[in-house]
Formats: sequence, structure tokens, C-alpha cells
Amino acid sequence: MSAELTRLTAAELAEKIHTREVSAVEVAQAHLDRVAAVDGEVHAFLHVATDAALASAAMVDEGLAAGTAPASPLAGVPLALKDVFTTLDMPTTAGSKILEGWRPPYDATVTSRLRSAGITILGKTNMDEFAMGSSTEYSAYGVTRNPWDTSRVPGGSGGGSAAALASFQAPLAIGTDTGGSIRQPAAFTGTVGVKPTYGGVSRYGLIACASSLDQGGPCARTVLDAALLHEVIGGYDPLDSTSIDERVPSVVEAARLGTSGDLSGLRVGVVRELGGEGYQAGVRASYEEALRQLEKLGAELVEVSCPHFEYGLAAYYLILPSEVSSNLARFDAMRYGLRVDKGASAEEVMAATREAGFGPEVKRRIMLGTYALSSGYYDAYYGQAQKVRTLISRDFAAAFGQADVLVSPATPTTAFPIGDKVDDPLAMYLNDLATIPTNLAGTAALSVPSGLADGLPVGLQVMAPALGEAVMYRVAAAYEAARQAEDGGPLINRVPSLPGGVA
Ligand code: GLN
Repeated sequence: MSAELTRLTAAELAEKIHTREVSAVEVAQAHLDRVAAVDGEVHAFLHVATDAALASAAMVDEGLAAGTAPASPLAGVPLALKDVFTTLDMPTTAGSKILEGWRPPYDATVTSRLRSAGITILGKTNMDEFAMGSSTEYSAYGVTRNPWDTSRVPGGSGGGSAAALASFQAPLAIGTDTGGSIRQPAAFTGTVGVKPTYGGVSRYGLIACASSLDQGGPCARTVLDAALLHEVIGGYDPLDSTSIDERVPSVVEAARLGTSGDLSGLRVGVVRELGGEGYQAGVRASYEEALRQLEKLGAELVEVSCPHFEYGLAAYYLILPSEVSSNLARFDAMRYGLRVDKGASAEEVMAATREAGFGPEVKRRIMLGTYALSSGYYDAYYGQAQKVRTLISRDFAAAFGQADVLVSPATPTTAFPIGDKVDDPLAMYLNDLATIPTNLAGTAALSVPSGLADGLPVGLQVMAPALGEAVMYRVAAAYEAARQAEDGGPLINRVPSLPGGVA
């Protein structure tokens, strides 16, 4: 029974918990057992909060026993939280040595919303240091392995959250997406990952990478589960000055509508500049097939052109480092975590601490950003990149005049072997080719499983205008249902068993 529980979706688990067929404590315990069995191999978690998880689940059970309505549709369902959101009762490292041993004095808004919804937080997941990377290899705490093939990366920066889902350690997870860190790991692990509209999910208590791009979002194994979680974490927060003061789009309703499978009347824009040259043959084949499936569902395919997308990567890798160089200045050896007491002055201690506490990729980005912002270069680099950003937003605006959603492959390749790109930053950055434009424009996008190429998962990216999440979820749910009908079940069920794991 316990192993079977870990195979269920969040929606199925919630139903069983709320009708008291199983208790939230049993569900939490089943997932904690699974973590104990397989996470030695996968290394999705940096911290497992066994006692807190069981206590939170017990509270849900007590409420239900007393006849109180569940706190939310996901009350009692376990979740893995990316270690970049602050948690009062757990360490928060952002994957960095510089935050080792730090205990945040407050909960992030996302954390407190999960708690109020009665969701069981199992623990904190591994990530590239300060969310910079595409493989989780830049974590200061060791690599996470892809459950589909443990010699490969799970993607990044949120590889821990995606791997936790794909190895059935949790049915729900939270990620952050600054340039693709939710969608690319979702694509690499055959799971669903959503980057909400900028301002749609509060950044309060989210340790900043690049503030104008960062966005928290839901990760799950099904589109409906992601939608349920989206409604829990989304919505206005006065503690985040960039939070949008509007209702969260009705994504659960949209996902349910999508499952009925009819997309007639919808225009799907096929972005000419994404999915061609530079994309792995198997990824392209899966994409072509996805387009045919969308057509079969009744959608009208229209070709759209976004000519400035090709400059997206270059612009992003100037804007992001610029913001990083400023945001990470706060790690000064005085306020948080690590302090290396070497030298006589505050400056020397700060330099020694930053030298020891930051990994090579973080240092690389701080240097790039400091350079791009320096007087004399500001206009040529940072200023120019901001202009490209505006052009990309205009490309989106024009494309959304012709289509309700846009599609592309989520990533140029499937999951690559551990060690393959770790010493080649440019090759690593190319992972973000298809995902970055959305972050620059502040619009919404998701990745939904789109079959296998050479035995590894591929993701289909669906992009929507700002606050256009409903139509995006509808298309993704329809596609997911069609794909599963054709494949005879969810793709994730084909993930190989892990050594320590039953089921
Ligand atoms: N791979 C991208 C980067 O390294 C994306 C990071 C992210 O979305 N957090 O910057």
C-alpha cells in the first residue's frame, strides 16, 4: 500500500485523504520511506524534515477527523521545496557554501502559503548555486541524478525538485525559473513545470538571483496537479513590490476543461526561430509529432516569426549577471552564514569569505555583471541588452496578435551525461535557448512531457501572454490527455526502477 501511494497524483492523494480513505500521516510516511529508499542514489533533497512533515500531516488528519473542511484542495499532499525559499524551521542554502548553517528568520510567502494550505513540506531540494546553471552540477552539495538514467543530469537549476517528482519521492514540488530552471528540468525528467507570469507568484523570501527575471512556480507530474498548486502559491502579495494585484487566472478549471480534449477555435503559433537548427534530431521529431497532435485536437497551427529571439541568450547573459553582481553583494561575511576570519580588515574578511563561499560559476557571473555595469561599458553591454529585451517583448506582442499560445521544444536536447558540460559554460548556457525569451518578456510558459527521444524524456513548451495562464494550461492538459491515450498511460510510468526502490 505504502509504495502504491507514492505512484498517485496529487489530485488522487487529496481525494483519498479528504474522504479519509487514507490518512495524511500515512501518505507523508509513504513518501518519507521512498526518500529513505532512493534518495541515496538520486540526491534530490538537501534536507528532509521528517518530524515537521509528520506533524503537519497529523494536523490535517485532526482537522478532518473533527469534521472541518480541508484547508485547501491539496491539504495533506506532500511537496518538495527548492532550497531557495526561506523556511523558518529548516536550513536554506540556495545550493551555496556561503549560506551553510544559516537559519532564515522568516518564511517566504510561498512557504507560508503552502503551510496554510495544509501541504506537507517534506524538505528542501538541491539546486545549482543561487539558481545559476542548467544541470544542478553547480550545487555546492553534490550532483542530483536523473531518475531516467542516473549517469545523466536532471537539468537545472531546479534539478532536485524535478528529480524528486520523477523518482516518486513527492507528487508536487516548487521551483524557480529565471531563464528556464523550472521548464528545462521538467523536460529532462518527463514532468510538468510552469513558469508563471512575472509578478504572479510572490518573490518575498525567494533568495534573489536576478530580480527582474526570477519567478517561482509549480512542478508536478500532471498538468492538473500543477494547476492545483499554482492556485495555492499564486496571487497578490503586498510584501513583493512587483506582485500583480489581480486575481490568479482560473488554471484548475482550464486544466479540467483541457482534459476533455477539444482545442477547436484555438490558434497555436509555431515559432519559426525555435526548434530548427541546433536542436537534437529526436527532439525535433517529437516536436513535429506534437504539432500533428495539436492539429488533431482541433487547433489551428499558424507560423509566427519572432526575429529577435536569436539575441535572447546574449541579452540574458548580460542582464542576469548584472543583477546577480548587485544582488549577491549582500553576502559580505557579516550578515549570513559563512565567515572566514582571515585578515585584519572587514574588506579582507569579506574577500576571504566570498572567495571560499562562492563556486566558480557564481564568481564568473559576478565578474561578468560587474564588467557589464562598469562605467564606460554600461551602454554597450547592459544598456544594449535592455534594448534587446524590449524588442523581444514586441516580438511576443506581435505573435500573440496572431495566436492564442505559442509552442516550441522546451530544450534543444534531452538530458546530457553528468560531467559533459560542466567545464564549458557556453555549452551549458545553450540549454536555455528556447526558455529565455519568456523570462525576458515576463510572460508565462510551461513544459509538458512530449514522449521520448532515444529513451529520454522530451518537453513541449507552451507559451502564453502575461496572465494568459488559463489558455496555456488548457492546451497543455489537452495535449497531455491525447498523448497518454496514444501511449497507453502517462510517460512517467516508464521511468526505470531505482536500485533501492520498490515499485
Ligand atoms: N540556466 C539558466 C542560468 O543558468 C537558468 C537559471 C534559472 O532559471 N534560475 O542562468
